[in-house]
Amino acid sequence: MKTIGLLGGMSWESTVTYYRIINEEINRRLGGHHSARLSLFSVDFDEIEILQHREDWDGTAEILGAAAERVERGSADFLLICTNTMHKIAGEIGARIRIPIVHIADATAEAIVSRGVKTVGLMGTRFTMEDNFYKGRLEVKYGLEVLIPEKEDRELIHRVIYDELCLGKIRGTSRENFLAIIQELHERGAQGVILGCTEISLLVGQEDTNVPLFDTTEIHALKAVEMALAE
Ligand code: GLU
Repeated sequence: MKTIGLLGGMSWESTVTYYRIINEEINRRLGGHHSARLSLFSVDFDEIEILQHREDWDGTAEILGAAAERVERGSADFLLICTNTMHKIAGEIGARIRIPIVHIADATAEAIVSRGVKTVGLMGTRFTMEDNFYKGRLEVKYGLEVLIPEKEDRELIHRVIYDELCLGKIRGTSRENFLAIIQELHERGAQGVILGCTEISLLVGQEDTNVPLFDTTEIHALKAVEMALAE
């Protein structure tokens, strides 16, 4: 079994989910008392969140690059950056280490393409929905058509992610709002919707809607297990 590297803490609420899914899946596949070999470095999210909202991406790259080096020194064979948003600087982080990064948008796109979906909605932080690093990668590399929510809804999603989900606050009204946005994306033509923030699955899941959901946390974590067990 290979050693999975996790760059976590963004937020720790979703890193818990990664840790649980990875260990459960390793045990489901190998049985016995098997669990994952894993190297985790978890950052202090307050520092990152402040730099993000100042758009100081070089500052985030400095912290996350150093953190990735620590994961590598912990003998990881490959690295997962456990947040969609910080893939904005995946290139800068990758330049600091020798092990490969398993890009969350690539893992997600593979799942979308394998389901035959061509037009997909994207929910995430403002950075993920509006900047080109994520949407553009899905469009250019995988030929997907990506729809994002209207401006007012993007602001709501961004606020709920930072002010509620990253702090472990799960509110019924926010769930209703997210489900309405998913439905709206579907009515605009999205055959499925990407939960493109690793905390969204704390709020909504496939059991809440008939619109196919692509949960990036689960997809990314399962991809890590597949790689850890590959020959
Ligand atoms: N975990 C979130 C994501 O997947 C948001 C927190 C962050 O900005 O890293 O984008």
